[in-house]
Amino acid sequence: MKKYYFDYAAGTPLDPRVEKAMKPYWSEKFGNPGALHWFGQEASAAVFGARDTIAKALGCNYREIIFTSSATESNNLALRGVIKNFKILRFQDCKIENDKKNNFAISNLQLAIKPKIIVSAIEHDSILETARDLERKGVEVIYVPVDKNGMVDLKKLKESLDERTILVSVMYANNEVGTIEPIFEIAKIISDFKKGKGESQKSKGKFDNLYPLPPTSYPLFHTDAVQAFNYLNCNVDDLGVDLLTLSAQKIYGPKGIGVLYVRQMSRAASYLSPIITGGSAQEYGLRGGTENVPGIIGFAKAAELAEKSRNSENKRLRKLQEYFLARMKKIAPKAKLNGPEDLKKRNPNNLNFYFPSQSGQDLLIKLDLEGFAVSPGAACSARVCAPSHVLKAMGFSDGRA
Ligand code: PLP
Repeated sequence: MKKYYFDYAAGTPLDPRVEKAMKPYWSEKFGNPGALHWFGQEASAAVFGARDTIAKALGCNYREIIFTSSATESNNLALRGVIKNFKILRFQDCKIENDKKNNFAISNLQLAIKPKIIVSAIEHDSILETARDLERKGVEVIYVPVDKNGMVDLKKLKESLDERTILVSVMYANNEVGTIEPIFEIAKIISDFKKGKGESQKSKGKFDNLYPLPPTSYPLFHTDAVQAFNYLNCNVDDLGVDLLTLSAQKIYGPKGIGVLYVRQMSRAASYLSPIITGGSAQEYGLRGGTENVPGIIGFAKAAELAEKSRNSENKRLRKLQEYFLARMKKIAPKAKLNGPEDLKKRNPNNLNFYFPSQSGQDLLIKLDLEGFAVSPGAACSARVCAPSHVLKAMGFSDGRA
């Protein structure tokens, strides 16, 4: 039976050119990039070359690229790393004093600020579950709602910003319904907010010394661009983001390798702490562990190819998307499109349908038996038969979602 793969948002095949680039780094050029001898240096040079290639694709400096094991880890590092760094500073000046009768007193205790982060309600689980976990640890989290097309409510986002907000995270393109979020507008809202903060903070605020960066640098802006890189401009300065997540396996690269772009601020103090510790020389101290050299080389090659083919791929897929939608309207007139009808507002690799009298799971099995691989939702939660949190956030009932 001929098989048809319709699940590229979950994972893409490895491009043969990427496979070829990776090949020598499995057994021939196997050195540990941390080692000082020739083998190590060879691997280290390759990793730096790859870092530079990805940096060019994002329009940033190679020092701003941190390799991780996945986009899930990058998202965790962005959220947890910012919060961890913030908390360290809050308590670093405390002194515990003992009056020799075993009465302890804490002096210099900084007034604690409850940090706040803002995420959209339709983020990937690697953001949402991390946010929920941070919430349990005392962080305030605002889940900004979306409209029926999955577009983030900018008014609510703006209203949620305050002086305690240290991070905003909104994905660039949604993995389930393909909605392209207004990242440029969000960056503008955040930058206007910071300017206003600057004006009102001409005199030093009492919490100023609690922030690793000048308070006017907050909130930082993170975007999960995993689904966007193939099709959309990911230049970090154009986007106005401070942190950006990518995954190689969505751009015809290997599985198990991710990137977090971390903007270097003018002030030397870092605003991110590692969540995987143990290798202070690795990834500029932000992620311990021997680098996945073949994965990194593969990521860079895939990024380079994706950059080159972005425009032509956009055109090719847009045509297929329009054709598919037109045919569906004829073949299954009762099927309803989830997400924006205006295709320019969704990623060209995505169509998401609701079939009124069919369960998604049944349909998926029937299609699979005919050789068609489709997905009922995000791959990481596809085995859990639960309504999609994305469709629910868009206002659909549990049944439909
Ligand atoms: N973010 C988005 C938007 C995704 O679509 C995915 C994967 O489906 C991830 C994050 C997680 O990627 P990874 O499998 O590399 O952890």
